[in-house]
Amino acid sequence: MSELHRFILEGMPVRGMLVRLTGDWQEVLRRRAASDTHPLPVRSLLGQMAAAGVLMQASIRFNGALVLQVFGDGPVKLAVAEVQPDLAFRVTGTVVGDVPADAQLAAMLNVHGGGRCAITLDPKEKRPGQQPYQGVVPLHGDRREPLQQLSQVLEHYMLQSEQLDTRLVLAANDEVAAGLLIQRMPTAGAGNLAGQRNEDEIGINEDFNRIALLAATLTQAELLALDAETVLHRLFWEESLRRFEPQQGESAPRFACNCSRERVGRMLLGLGADEVHGIVAEQGRVEIGCEFCGVKYHFDAVDVGGLFTPVGTQAPGSAAIN
Ligand SMILES: [Zn+2]
Repeated sequence: MSELHRFILEGMPVRGMLVRLTGDWQEVLRRRAASDTHPLPVRSLLGQMAAAGVLMQASIRFNGALVLQVFGDGPVKLAVAEVQPDLAFRVTGTVVGDVPADAQLAAMLNVHGGGRCAITLDPKEKRPGQQPYQGVVPLHGDRREPLQQLSQVLEHYMLQSEQLDTRLVLAANDEVAAGLLIQRMPTAGAGNLAGQRNEDEIGINEDFNRIALLAATLTQAELLALDAETVLHRLFWEESLRRFEPQQGESAPRFACNCSRERVGRMLLGLGADEVHGIVAEQGRVEIGCEFCGVKYHFDAVDVGGLFTPVGTQAPGSAAIN
């Protein structure tokens, strides 16, 4: 099943992670296929986003949801991966046009140069008025050349927003979604707050550069086909790699959706009574499907009536506070 492997390169300011999502990733695709199936390049992109989201969440250990979004101006309008602190992930995508069978990132999402990648960190416990933190990067490089791999976009983001040299290899097919991350560790002590000293090292740390070059020799085909032991041995057999206990089984990254009937109810409240009663009058009930997990929520006339009844006028025994 799915697994996450962490390691450091001994004596160097370099750490790494390798993730493989297998049964959980297949479950995501199975649920999607129950309604409609995305074209292969979109399935691969969503798998890469799931793997990347898990790697980024595991690397920054943020107490809240990490949401990775790509907004496009081509046949793919939106792709989203969301990862919780316990590495529960879910993904969804919106396709609005024909996706060529061999489409890479630009042909899917950046046809007119307007594609964007946003990373949002949404804290679990917000202070009043606190907004989620969001960083946005374009889908092109410094010379405005379109980037063809999600990994390049995210490397750019990590450098710009987190001042972290990062190398990523991502790949996904219908069986496996996998990723390898190599990162130069923030300067000891205050981390990014150390500011200048850390930034001085960007791009020039020889240890990081050597390890990143080794990592970049890993092909997507190898990442998909080989198990973690084989990948790490092939890449780093001459280096002193120290591995930590892999996160497997209970602690492994896993597919989970946190949608609920209550949340859908709140969304219906937001639409307003007229709108929702109108749908019930027309169709007999409201059906809302979760775009992440495919679960369908139904609200009939009685449910909708209850939803829009002011709390104070509900029957005794309900949650009314008098
Ligand atoms: Zn759901």
